Amino acid sequence: MELLLEEKHRAVRQSVRRFCDRELRPIAAQIDQECRFPWEVVEKMGKLGYFGIQVPKALGGAGLDSVSYAIVIEEISRVSAAIGLCITVHNSVAVYPILSFGSKEQIQKWVPPLARGEKIGAFCLTEPNAGSDAGGIEATAHVDGEDYIVNANKVFVTNGGIADICLIFCRTDPSAGARGISVVVAERGTNGFVVGDLEDLCGMRANPVCSIRLYDCRIPVSNLLATKGMGMKIGLAALDTGRMGIAAQAVGIAQAAFEEAIRYTKQRHQFGVPIERHQAIQTMIADMATQLDASRLLVYRAAALKDKKLPFSKESAMAKLFASEAATYVTDLAVQIHGGYGYSKAYAVERYYRDARVTRIYEGTSEIHRMVIAKSVLKE
Ligand SMILES: Cc1cc2nc3c(=O)[nH]c(=O)nc-3n(C[C@H](O)[C@H](O)[C@H](O)COP(=O)(O)OP(=O)(O)OC[C@H]3O[C@@H](n4cnc5c(N)ncnc54)[C@H](O)[C@@H]3O)c2cc1C
Repeated sequence: MELLLEEKHRAVRQSVRRFCDRELRPIAAQIDQECRFPWEVVEKMGKLGYFGIQVPKALGGAGLDSVSYAIVIEEISRVSAAIGLCITVHNSVAVYPILSFGSKEQIQKWVPPLARGEKIGAFCLTEPNAGSDAGGIEATAHVDGEDYIVNANKVFVTNGGIADICLIFCRTDPSAGARGISVVVAERGTNGFVVGDLEDLCGMRANPVCSIRLYDCRIPVSNLLATKGMGMKIGLAALDTGRMGIAAQAVGIAQAAFEEAIRYTKQRHQFGVPIERHQAIQTMIADMATQLDASRLLVYRAAALKDKKLPFSKESAMAKLFASEAATYVTDLAVQIHGGYGYSKAYAVERYYRDARVTRIYEGTSEIHRMVIAKSVLKE
């Protein structure tokens, strides 16, 4: 697999792996149990460019390509999926839309501190009554002088508890259906900007996922991203990149579970031999290895297409669908291989199993991905 990558990609993997093994691995289980966001490590990540992976160097980023981006997310998620989630959401659905759709002034104002990790970004689309049906959002923004008055109840916001810059999807024209949705950028600290309680999640527990509520919040009209009514277009473009990131995250989690499973099959003896000698275990290992490689290839294909500026929307959806399903399968088998110990917090596979599960849900469920892929295939 590594042979398919260029030298620069192998170098990125090596450097991120070294950092994560040294800085993140020693605390990964603990931050999960304590639901703690590890600022001490995250600040170092900012200095290394992880918060602006594809942002041009002139704007404070690392200026890397999409294949490198996938590798960075994969490697961080291999150690802590919750921190991988922070980095992928920040890069792909917060920074990327500003960079792609923002005005020169907006980019200059928001991107450099985001790219350096001095400010954290969030993507606020989901509401209590609008999840898969994103066009059904109820948040509103109406003009009053130089400002929008925004009212919104956004739930399940990744990075929500720590985010400084939030992309809020809201209706600027309630009569225009999905065409009346726009994105305004809300900054933490604005009057009426309220951070809700943390979600008590099954996995990704070190990420402060929570609700964000805006009550008659005054946001300058100049904080509108692109033009009025562009919200769905911005959202879909962001999710094309975001889904590739979630797919890379799923690969990282599956890789971690696979490595733990292999290690365990060599050390655990039953019936007088290491369990790796039992054919039933070997069948599981074969299936895990194949699912993992196939997932990784789909992710790299989507990333390579993006780097070549070719359409990658369908491929990104395929990568996310396959890799997330594979990650839940692989982590499930890793638990199985560990027997009862796999169900205990004493072994890391229990965390990987919990973390993997949500990759089939966020940034579009598997069911929605099948609809997106089928629509694209049937159009061809
Ligand atoms: C940990 C976590 C982090 C998240 N982070 C963010 C974030 O940062 N920003 C954000 O905006 N959102 C975020 N979300 C929300 C996430 O994107 C939504 O949960 C997801 O899109 C599904 O929406 P829902 O939960 O409302 O489920 P629903 O849309 O209510 O779906 C329920 C079930 O019905 C199925 N379904 C719905 N419609 C159809 C259909 N037409 N055909 C077939 N099946 C259908 C779904 O696949 C699912 O199985 C996050 C969620 C979690 C759990």
